[in-house]
Amino acid sequence: MTSNDSLFERAKHAIPGGVDSPVRAYGSVGGTPRFYTEASGPFVRDVEGTRYVDLVCSWGPALLGHAHPEVVAAVKEAAARGLSFGAPTLAEVELAEAITERVPLCERVRLVSTGTEATMTAIRLARGVTGRDVLVKFAGCYHGHSDSLLAEAGSGIATAGLPGSAGVPEAIAAQTLVVPYNDEAALRALFAERGHEIAAVITEAAPANMGVVPPLPGFNAFLREITAEHGALLILDEVLTGFRVGPAGWWGLEQAAAADGAAGSAGGAWAPDIVTFGKVVGGGMPLAALGGPAAIMDELAPLGPVYQAGTLSGNPLATAAGLATLRLADQGVYDHVDRAAVRIRGALGEALADAGVPFTINHAGSLFSAFIGEGPAADGVENYADAKAQDAAAYGRFFHAMLKAGVALPPSCYEAWFLSAAHDEAALSHIEEAIRTAVRAI
Ligand code: PMP
Repeated sequence: MTSNDSLFERAKHAIPGGVDSPVRAYGSVGGTPRFYTEASGPFVRDVEGTRYVDLVCSWGPALLGHAHPEVVAAVKEAAARGLSFGAPTLAEVELAEAITERVPLCERVRLVSTGTEATMTAIRLARGVTGRDVLVKFAGCYHGHSDSLLAEAGSGIATAGLPGSAGVPEAIAAQTLVVPYNDEAALRALFAERGHEIAAVITEAAPANMGVVPPLPGFNAFLREITAEHGALLILDEVLTGFRVGPAGWWGLEQAAAADGAAGSAGGAWAPDIVTFGKVVGGGMPLAALGGPAAIMDELAPLGPVYQAGTLSGNPLATAAGLATLRLADQGVYDHVDRAAVRIRGALGEALADAGVPFTINHAGSLFSAFIGEGPAADGVENYADAKAQDAAAYGRFFHAMLKAGVALPPSCYEAWFLSAAHDEAALSHIEEAIRTAVRAI
C-alpha cells in the first residue's frame, strides 16, 4: 500500500515541495501532508485508507459536503455532452443570471476559472475605468497570487511568514499600498495624501485568510464612502464568503442587518463597484466570477477597452457544478451550516477554557477560527498584527492531535474552519469529542 510518507517523498521529486499549492505542504504545522484519494459528505480519505471528518471543505467550495450526488450527476451529464467548447453556452448564461439574482448589484457577470483571475481582472477593470494606477489593499487579506496582490498577503504568504513574493517587479509592487485592516484613520490619512492616484481599494468582504477577522461595524460602509469621495472604486472580494456565509454572501448579511437595524449594521445599506466570487460558485470545479453594474462591467472586452479572456472560461463542467450547487444551496443549507458552526466554535471555546489555554475565537457568519495565545486572549484580533501574535506552534500541536483523533483541520492557523450541510450529528459529535482530547496536546 502507498503511504503518505512515501508518496510525499515521490511527489517532491516530481513537483516543487511535493504540492501544487503551498499551504498543502504542512509547512507550518510540520509532518507529512495527507494525500487524499476520495471525499464524500463530511469525510475525506487518504491513500492509507484513513478517514477524517473534514473541516477544510476544499477551502470553502464544499458547502453541500463533498461529492453531493446531484452535483456529481450534473457534472457527469455535462461531461457526456463535451468537456470544453470554447464557445458560449446556455449554462454560463444561467449561472451569470443566478449570480445576478442573488447579488442584484451584479448586473453583469463575467465567468473566469480561479479567484486569482477574478481579482486580477477586477483590478485591471478598476484601473481601466478610473485611469489611475494605485491599488490599496489591507495587510493580511489574500486575493490570489497575481503580482499586485501579494504584498503582506494572508493565507499561504502569512503561513510562510513572507512579506510578499520574489519575482514581483518593484515598479508593480510600488503601485500597491498596504494599510492595516479595520483602521479607518490610516485609510483616511492615505486618501488625504494620495486619493487622486488611487484606482481602487480591494478588501475581503469579511477577511478569512489571516484567520477570521471580521470587519468592525460600519467598516465596509466606510470603505464605500471614502472611495466614492475620492473617485476610486471599491472591489469587494467575496471569493471565500460569497454563497458560503449566505445566499448573497457577506454583503447580503450586512444588507439584511442594515434593513433590520441590527447591531453591526452601522453605515446602513451600501454597494461595492465590483464583486469577485469563487469557490462555492464553482461547486468544487475551477470556476470564479466578477460582477458589477453594467456601466463598469461593459468596459470589459469585447465591448470595452479592458482586456480579459480564457480558453476554459465558463467551462461546461464547471458551470454545471456551479449551477447545481447554487440551486441546492437553499436557506436550509445556510441555517444548518450556521448552527453547526455555532456548536463547534462553542465546543472549541469551552474545551480551550477548561484546559486553561489562552485564546480568542473570531467568526464571520459560519466562518470561524481560533487564535491561541496570551496576546489574542487579552486584546482580541482586529488586524494582521494581532493575528501574528498568536502561538502558531501551539496550533500545530492541536492540529496533529485532531488529525490523530480523525479530524482534518486547516494545516495553518491563518485559515478559517469550514463546515458543510453534510456535517451531520455523527460528524459534529466526532469533532466535539476530538476537540476535548486534542486541547490537551496544546
Ligand atoms: N480571494 C480570496 C478572498 C480567497 O480566499 C482566495 C483563495 N483562498 C482567492 C481570492 C484566490 O482564489 P484562487 O485560489 O481560486 O485563485
